[in-house]
Parts: sequence; C-alpha cells; structure tokens
Amino acid sequence: MVRIGVPLKKFTHWNLEFRRRIQTQKALERKIPLSPSELQYFERLRAEKHRAVERSGEESERKETEKTSGLQVEQIPVEREDREGALPSLPLSIPRYYLDLVGQDPADPLRLQCIPREEEWETEPLSMEDPLADQRYSPVPRLVHRYRDRALILMTDQCAMSCRFCFRRHFTGKGQGIIRQSELDHIISYLKEHPEVKELLLSGGDPLTLSDEKFFAIVDTLRFGRPGIVLRVSSRLPVVLPSRITRRFAFQMRIRQPFWFVLHVNHPKELTPKADVALKRLADAGVPLLSQTVLLKGVNDSVDALEELFRSLTARRVKPYYLFQLDLARGTAHFRVPLEKGITLMRELKNRLSALALPTYALDLPGGGGKVPLVDAPDMTEGEGDWIFRTPDGQEYRYPKE
Ligand code: SF4
Repeated sequence: MVRIGVPLKKFTHWNLEFRRRIQTQKALERKIPLSPSELQYFERLRAEKHRAVERSGEESERKETEKTSGLQVEQIPVEREDREGALPSLPLSIPRYYLDLVGQDPADPLRLQCIPREEEWETEPLSMEDPLADQRYSPVPRLVHRYRDRALILMTDQCAMSCRFCFRRHFTGKGQGIIRQSELDHIISYLKEHPEVKELLLSGGDPLTLSDEKFFAIVDTLRFGRPGIVLRVSSRLPVVLPSRITRRFAFQMRIRQPFWFVLHVNHPKELTPKADVALKRLADAGVPLLSQTVLLKGVNDSVDALEELFRSLTARRVKPYYLFQLDLARGTAHFRVPLEKGITLMRELKNRLSALALPTYALDLPGGGGKVPLVDAPDMTEGEGDWIFRTPDGQEYRYPKE
C-alpha cells in the first residue's frame, strides 16, 4: 500500500518505468511538440489503419459471400495492392527516461532514433521485409542458425524502445510475445543434435524486457540442456532504460559466466550518468562487455561523434565490437549512410583510435549472405548502381551505392 507522504519516486522500479513507456501519439504530444514530418507519419498511420479495417470488413463480406454462394474465397478476385498496401509499421515505444534526453530540435540525434517520421512510409525496390533472411535460417521456431558455430534465439518480440531503424521489424512488437516452453524444448533438442554450435546469442526484441525470473529461468534451461555453451545477450536497455540493470541482475549474470553482454548504443549522448551506473554494475560484477552500433544518417555519421562514442565506451570498460552498416529493412532508407562514406569515416577513425577503441565496420549481406568486414573487404567491386560482394561459396550479393 502506498503511504501518504512518501514520494512516488521511492516506489519507482524498472518494470513500472517499462510499463509507463510512451506508446501513443497523444502521450508523446503531451511531452514534446511534433514536427510536420513526425505528424505526417501519424496521419499516414491512421489512414493505413483505416484501410486495414476496411479490408478486414471486405474480407468478412467475402467469406459471407462464399458461404451463401458456394464460391471459394480464393476464386473471388481481390486487388493484390489492397491486400499488401499497408506497410508493416513498428509500434511506437519510448521510455520516458529516454524521451527526457531528446532535444526540441527535430534533427536531434536521439529524437531521430525514437520518434517516427513520414519517410518511414517510403518504399524502395531494394528494401526487404526480412533483410537478414532470419526466416530462411530458422530450423525451429525462434532459433536462427546462420553460422556453423553459433545460433541466435528470439526470446521475446518486446522492446523498451522501438528504434525507428530496426531491421527486425518483421518480428519486433508483432505480438508473438515471450518464447514458450514447447519452443524452448525444440531448441534444446536441436542444440543437442548440433554440437558444432558453441555460442548462443540471446536476442529479440530485447531479452532484458523479461523479468529476472523469466530471463534466468530460460538461461538456466539452455545451460542445463547444453552445458558449456557460451552465452551472449544483446540489449539496448542499459542506455534506454538503465534502471533495468539492478545489482541483483548483475549478480545473476556474474554467477552464470561465461556470459557476455553486448550493448547496443549509437550516440555519446546515450551514455548518461544513469547509463554509467548500469554499465559499472555489470563491469564490477565481472561481466565482459562489448558494444554494437548502427551507422545512422543524421545520428552518428561523423568522425567526431563516432570517436567520442568509442572513446567513452572504452573508458567505461566496454569494448567497441561492431559498427554496422544499415540493413535494407523496409521503411529505414532515410537512415542509410552511403557505404563509401562509411568506409571513409572508418579509415579516419583508424588514424585517431587505438585498436582497443576501434570496432569492426561490417555489413550483413542483404538476403542472408552473412557478415563481411567493409574496410579492406576481400571481394567487393563497384557495379553501376550498387556494390557487389562475392562470398567464398561463389554467391553474389548487392548493396545500393546511395
Ligand atoms: S532494441 Fe533492437 S530489436 Fe528492439 S527495436 Fe531497437 S534495434 Fe530493434
């Protein structure tokens, strides 16, 4: 029971903060005035939702016709565009903590990452629903096995923050929820049959949106099923909801080593004093820390911003691990930095930073070709409108120049 006179702040808990995250335009507008482009995004969303409702009404009507006329639904012609017109959009989700860091300027680097803009509705021929072909490399539900010695588990589709550039938007926030026991059982059977898998990446969604109890119960089930497997958890929470990293959580990580923590961080402004506390808790508990960053237009596509980010991470005992070229997910092209510019930035960073502070600049080849380093990439040639990569097995993959 909340006693009168005790400040509400005293009762704040990460889970409460998670539940109170901003999820509607109305709640967002109460905190920050929206720019024309941001408003336009919501306008279009409403129009698309309206169309979806109309389509579902037509669908029911069609089924009714089928019942009364004896015709099969498939035999009644439907415009393809009507079925696929609406783009898959990422739900709005911003922790209040993160929104408080966002500036009034529509070009603020944190704002660009969390508030959608009208460009999200733009399509381009090269964009894909599932750019890394997760579904093709999924031998059992919720498991992606792309590389011989490592696999990835989609623990939940929930995130504290919906990053507007997310490449896994075909899964993120789409209502599949937390992994089920039956799915976990199938994954463990698969891992037992595949002893070549030595590392398991826990991903999603953001796995740390699960409670400690659920998260570590899953971790322990995996460890019990495949003793000795090296675990890695990938999360954005230390910088978007730092209160999630409690002392208890850090301790539970500590007693389950080898267990690596990969922090997703994109801008030095995300490394606030609260984020520092979260990272310190993990580092002090002896949890090895790595970072991954996505190169994003308008957010971090300058040598100075990247240098500051990687130096700050190193000072916080986080080894910068990967700088990723943006994947070709639908609705994210406005974040894309031309590959040539990325290579130039990286070469400049190489002159400024030690090997300790320098991540590997890499691209996940569109369509499931795997990761390739981009600086001094062994087989990369310039085509007319794109870059062409050849993998050792002779496959060709293309990435746009712009
Ligand atoms: S936290 Fe990761 S999975 Fe979630 S929206 Fe951001 S990039 Fe996508």
